[in-house]
Amino acid sequence: MLEKVEELNLEKVIEDFEALTKDAERVQRETLRRILEDNASAEYLQNLGLNGRTDPESFKAHVPLITHKGLEPYMTRIINGDASSILTGKPITTVSLSSGTTQGKPKYLPWNDELCETAVQMNQTSFAFRNREFPIKNGKALSFIYGSKQFETKGGLMAGTSTTNLFRHERYKSAMKKLQLQCCSPEEVIFGPDFHQSLYCHLLCGLIFREQVQLVSSTFAHSIVHAFRTFEQVWQELCTDIREGVLSSTVTVPSIRTAMSKLLKPNPELANLIEKKCMGLNNWYGLIPEIFPNTKYIHGIMTGSMEPYVSKLRHYAGDLPLLTTDYGASEGCLAANVNPKLPPELTTYAVLPHLGYFEFIPPSESEQCNGGSAFPCVDPQPVGLTEVKVGEEYEFVTTNPAGLYRYRLGDVVKVMGFYNSTPQLKFVRRSSLLLTINIDKNTEKDLQLAVEAAGKLVAEEKMEIVDYTSHVDSSTEPGHYVIFWEINGEASEELLSECCNCLDKSFVDAGYVSSRKTNCIGPLELRVLRRGTFQKILDHFIGLGAAASQCKTPRSVAPSHSKVLQILSENVVRSYLSTAFN
Ligand code: AMP
Repeated sequence: MLEKVEELNLEKVIEDFEALTKDAERVQRETLRRILEDNASAEYLQNLGLNGRTDPESFKAHVPLITHKGLEPYMTRIINGDASSILTGKPITTVSLSSGTTQGKPKYLPWNDELCETAVQMNQTSFAFRNREFPIKNGKALSFIYGSKQFETKGGLMAGTSTTNLFRHERYKSAMKKLQLQCCSPEEVIFGPDFHQSLYCHLLCGLIFREQVQLVSSTFAHSIVHAFRTFEQVWQELCTDIREGVLSSTVTVPSIRTAMSKLLKPNPELANLIEKKCMGLNNWYGLIPEIFPNTKYIHGIMTGSMEPYVSKLRHYAGDLPLLTTDYGASEGCLAANVNPKLPPELTTYAVLPHLGYFEFIPPSESEQCNGGSAFPCVDPQPVGLTEVKVGEEYEFVTTNPAGLYRYRLGDVVKVMGFYNSTPQLKFVRRSSLLLTINIDKNTEKDLQLAVEAAGKLVAEEKMEIVDYTSHVDSSTEPGHYVIFWEINGEASEELLSECCNCLDKSFVDAGYVSSRKTNCIGPLELRVLRRGTFQKILDHFIGLGAAASQCKTPRSVAPSHSKVLQILSENVVRSYLSTAFN
């Protein structure tokens, strides 16, 4: 039974969104004013001489653009317990730890109630649009979500990933209850200390409530794919638990066992039914609708670095729609998916102009100051939210209510159009270059396209790439690109050599091609990994404090990231050198 809570008025949420986006420029000015007034006493702003001015022009003239590196000294003081108003008027008492998987190491960021509110607003907005197209009422969600460890910093502040801070926050919990959508799994499973045990129990809870499940979700698509890959391995064990009403002895956490014992009762009919369904599936195609017949859609971030998992997700989803979630970060929530009917490949995100003050750096300027150009760095001149141009790409800059002012997020987005007067963005990539040795410039997206091209050769042999990453190997002269792959089958030497050549040829950037032709960059190397290697990498990040549902596979591993490189090199089973330019 669902607890009686006041239902959210979804039409009102949509009306509010319409009003906010019709007047995005004014809303932006007001949002900036609110942020600057609330935090006027913060040391950071005081030192910049704003003297109470809150208009965008003065703000831009006095406040510099900043990256996480520039923020670090302030965060260090906060973490170490300096309780003065450093970044915000009301001192920060909670910090969040970004997953760190994109940049190598977790970053500390300020977190507060106001930032929590941005997440509530964004979730409610996209839910209202989603529910209009795909109504869900009094259903259950099979959500593969995991709270990470929360811990106290040296100075006594609470620290956890932003999703963990969010899931534990009372405001967020009560707002989610208003959506009338209950998670299948008890809190003990979500916040369990062992990711593998939590995942197993999420699956078990889903099966117990299979008829009520109306939604299958996670923060990132990767976690949903990972969950069903695990299902393929453990479904018989899950059925045994259901048949006997006894939880597998592999789940050892007492709080999880106690919580699960309240749900798990012997149910041989259900076990038999699930077994029959699993055995009837062809290569697990359509697994989700077959096992959870009332599911309306699959929901999670499916754009950006999650795109490589979409085809596998489609395989599990059969005919069910895939709906990508919203666009946000540990640095705050940014934009909502208000066109839920569009497939992930076409999804855009509408910026919510009241969540922060947003600016956009044109790409040529952004690149110059990212070390991507030989020209000296001139200060980039960002444009405002309503000044961006359709068809152009920009780097996102955010000012949020938790003490980030003109913070460069490191994401590149493309303006696809406008919803009223707010831009609708497509997520393009992280702004940093992944692979560069000489005059070559290859981004996360270029790598993805190369892997997709070679992945087609693998798919012809009925296998697939489970996951991938890359590395620049400068220990050889000349340096060369290394691509690491995990595949789910025994590919022939011939096929893998062909894939290696295909990868090398698929980096079409002129700098790479000419450097390869002149041997300024050596032959690309494909290193094939033992099955389960990416699981080890995920476990490594979880061990550092990341939440499993917030983890993203690093698409490039820097030499400084020695532990991940070590895991990779210890698990290489075969390697190939390209002959594409011989
Ligand atoms: P984190 O640093 O762990 O909070 O992750 C935030 C980052 O995830 C963002 O800066 C983006 O690079 C990425 N991200 C978040 N939402 C999306 C989305 N909807 N599509 C693509 N990438 C996203």
